[in-house]
Amino acid sequence: MSYFTHLECSVPCGAPPLDPRAIHHLCVCGAPLLARYDLERARAWSRDSLAGREPNMWRYRELLPLFDGEAPVTLGEGFTPLFHARALGATLGLDRLYIKDESLNPTNSFKARGQSAAITRAKYLGATTIALPTAGNAGNAAAAYSAAAGLACQVFIPKDAKRPFVDECRLYGATVTLVDGLITDAGRICAETGGPLGWYDVSTLKEPYRIEGKKTMAYELAEQMHWAWPDWIIYPTGGGTGMVGMWKAFDEIERLGWITNAKRPRMVSVQAEHCAPIVRAFEQGTEKAAMWENASTLADGLRVPRAIGDFLILRAVRESGGTALAVSDQAMVEGMLAIGRHAGVSAAPEGGAAFVAIQHLVADGSIKPHESVVLFNTGGALKYLDVLPR
Ligand SMILES: *Cc1c(COP(=O)(O)O)cnc(C)c1O
Repeated sequence: MSYFTHLECSVPCGAPPLDPRAIHHLCVCGAPLLARYDLERARAWSRDSLAGREPNMWRYRELLPLFDGEAPVTLGEGFTPLFHARALGATLGLDRLYIKDESLNPTNSFKARGQSAAITRAKYLGATTIALPTAGNAGNAAAAYSAAAGLACQVFIPKDAKRPFVDECRLYGATVTLVDGLITDAGRICAETGGPLGWYDVSTLKEPYRIEGKKTMAYELAEQMHWAWPDWIIYPTGGGTGMVGMWKAFDEIERLGWITNAKRPRMVSVQAEHCAPIVRAFEQGTEKAAMWENASTLADGLRVPRAIGDFLILRAVRESGGTALAVSDQAMVEGMLAIGRHAGVSAAPEGGAAFVAIQHLVADGSIKPHESVVLFNTGGALKYLDVLPR
């Protein structure tokens, strides 16, 4: 039973609600659209009904963009483990450090969640070709879910992207175009090429459904923590779908009555030293983030010089009482090694960056030893082995 009702501007700008049975990408004002549900009626949905459901993100299907009678395009994404990383926490004097290990998703990153949701909708909306710009992981996930849905996939990727990302797109039968430039350039070329051909663009926040897949990380966290929130969430941030999706989920979960009267986690947005538009905007107190010139970092997922949902990320960080901080590439690699050695978890540089951010926040006294901290390991190390020392 689905409670999905309509799409709405994320600002909101006052534009009327949109019918999700037609294709919509952005609001008329240019801002991202968000999926909305009848949360009043959804209060009849009890969290107890989750017991015994399949261990993937579609266990929360009543509040996902799926209409009655539809079957999701799924490869078993989500319901990733939440580990108590005792030894890793002990290296920082923390009692309650947890890792939410998103590397165990199909195609090794949390991007699987967003593409499962986006490509499910694309399929039911009659799309035949999926298209997107990517730094790597989103392209791998889109290619895999397109294959699972029987759709064609066109991936636009910077030509200096790591080889495993390009090869894996091709493994799933996608057509790859190498672009001279950054993900923003790839996005422009993707739109120019695909627009006239009617390709369904699943760029970050340029369609409303990837966020819906990503928000399930917060539903799982709540369920896995027995309906309580941690004190801190540490999240590596590029385009911001993870942060924005989880913040949206907190609101839904509270309105469902599944967690009430609890302080929401402080949200920490972690970026790379040489691509930190959100950190700069947070520090300067601005509502939006200016484009970061000459962006560079070995963490491909963080190499996003301008995010269309910048104001939504900054809202989540500020309203939660969190913070934003940047980490050097070298420190990220050390973070990967620490997570590997002390937790046995395969972390991408983005996960390594999250660990380094925790180190900083413990050192400056922001995170207290007894507080609960959840590190999101958004991807695995296997596509990044070239960054490890040998
Ligand atoms: C895309 C990506 C990120 C950033 O994702 P957003 O939620 O869109 O900010 C972080 N880590 C990895 C491994 C990624 O692939």
